[in-house]
Amino acid sequence: MHEPLIKVDDKHVPLYRIVWVADLPHFCGEEDCVREGYYEIRLDVDDSLWTSHHDRDRVIEALNQWCGDPRDEGEFE
Ligand SMILES: [Zn+2]
Repeated sequence: MHEPLIKVDDKHVPLYRIVWVADLPHFCGEEDCVREGYYEIRLDVDDSLWTSHHDRDRVIEALNQWCGDPRDEGEFE
């Protein structure tokens, strides 16, 4: 069975805490923004993680495996 935990930066995140994952990198136009270019991973505890494109893709792959149709199992092996 797939482990419902994924490591993002230095944090092990339970997949069931993830509400959504950004498709595009953050851009708000503010000069002092430190999130620009990072992908937001929204958590259900009114908090977000900010990560790279690569880690964002890892999270989506893990979510797909975790919430995916069980009939699709084996596709990732
Ligand atoms: Zn911003």
